[in-house]
Amino acid sequence: MKICKFGGSSLANANQFEKIKAIINEDSDRRIVVVSAVGKSIQTQNKITDLLYLLHAHLLYGVDYQVLLNEIIERYTSIQKDLNLNFDVRNFFNQLKSQLNAKYERDKLVSVGEKLSAILCAEYLGWPMIDAKDAIVMNSDGTVDFKMTSQKIQTLAQQYPRFVIPGFYGALPNGRIKLMKRGGSDITGSIVAAALNADIYENWTDVSGIMMADPRIVANAKPIPELTYGELRELTFMGASVLHEESIQAVKHLNIPLNIRNTNDMHHPGTMIRNDIEEDIQVKGFITGITGLKDFAVVTVHKEQIARSPLVIRQVLELFEYYDLLIDHMSKGIDSLSLTVKAELLKEHQFDLFADLKQKCDIDKLTFEDDLALISVVGRNMKDKPGVSGQLFSALGEKKINIRLIAQGTDEISIIVGVSNSDYESTIKTLYERFIRL
Ligand code: ASP
Repeated sequence: MKICKFGGSSLANANQFEKIKAIINEDSDRRIVVVSAVGKSIQTQNKITDLLYLLHAHLLYGVDYQVLLNEIIERYTSIQKDLNLNFDVRNFFNQLKSQLNAKYERDKLVSVGEKLSAILCAEYLGWPMIDAKDAIVMNSDGTVDFKMTSQKIQTLAQQYPRFVIPGFYGALPNGRIKLMKRGGSDITGSIVAAALNADIYENWTDVSGIMMADPRIVANAKPIPELTYGELRELTFMGASVLHEESIQAVKHLNIPLNIRNTNDMHHPGTMIRNDIEEDIQVKGFITGITGLKDFAVVTVHKEQIARSPLVIRQVLELFEYYDLLIDHMSKGIDSLSLTVKAELLKEHQFDLFADLKQKCDIDKLTFEDDLALISVVGRNMKDKPGVSGQLFSALGEKKINIRLIAQGTDEISIIVGVSNSDYESTIKTLYERFIRL
């Protein structure tokens, strides 16, 4: 059994719905479809979810919303008309409009985006539509009650061999609609796949999988055919905009493979993610992907023998905790401790933090650098292979790129280098040229 989640761009217009149908008809194992709200077909369009949040704000502040509502109605009506569907979109919105007022619940209003996508998609496929409020049990903090949800999904799947379900929302035990976090349809897909112990969770989007490097930096970057959940975690932690950690947890735990596919190129195999990959000895390179982020700051606390002073280290860390500063990297010398954080986060508390470090931690000196970019080179094949970092550093050395920070990630599957922001793009290009475009 395959669970297929389609993102907003895969539902942006009637033509995209046709592609979904072709994908579903091609493989009878594709039995459950999870849909997002209608997304953008062109860059200048807005996502329906964004418009619905905006509509709610208009209601709340008593601003005229008719133009906005018309745009939403128009987007769904054109799909319904172009596909010759019976569902009466206008009537749906007329009814909704008669209930709208400043007290209308935001989550209920925004969930309409996903719900209508599911209604239209279900009619188009000739499948039943299951409302997520009857299947996905939410906790009040916006997470999913997996146990209760699994039971409901399993019962529904016995009753309906195929169905369409809206993503992104569910209901609290008292029946009230509750949204997940943005991008939550990915979570719905993964929960449904886990509840039914599916063979594959297919996540259909508008790119042919995860790229080996940001295509805005490396033109024609290749997609990654296969990677492990561990590698995915390293890539996303350091900037790759793939799926949120939370949205893969359920499938990852059950070792259900996740396949990222392109609705606009349905036969492209995309990227397959699993816990273990049987190594193909033909695989040439040892790098799966390169990712990174700009704008980090490094705060270095100098104190003689700090390496032998757990108390000072603890005090320093406590201050970072106090100011809610997530530490991305930490390195310790005999007389210094360097902490790397996102510059944006630090900006807000910088002066208070520095004052506290000087007053409360009995340190000798404090230095600070911003303008640092971190680049993570990820690859399960780097593990136990001597010489990888040597090659990496010499490639950068040849290009006269100065490495300001070095760290090795967990399980030896990533190496992180810090360079100046201005060297960010050239570092990624150099590493790609050297290790991937072999
Ligand atoms: N439509 C929602 C959003 O834009 C959820 C999703 O697309 O996954 O965040």
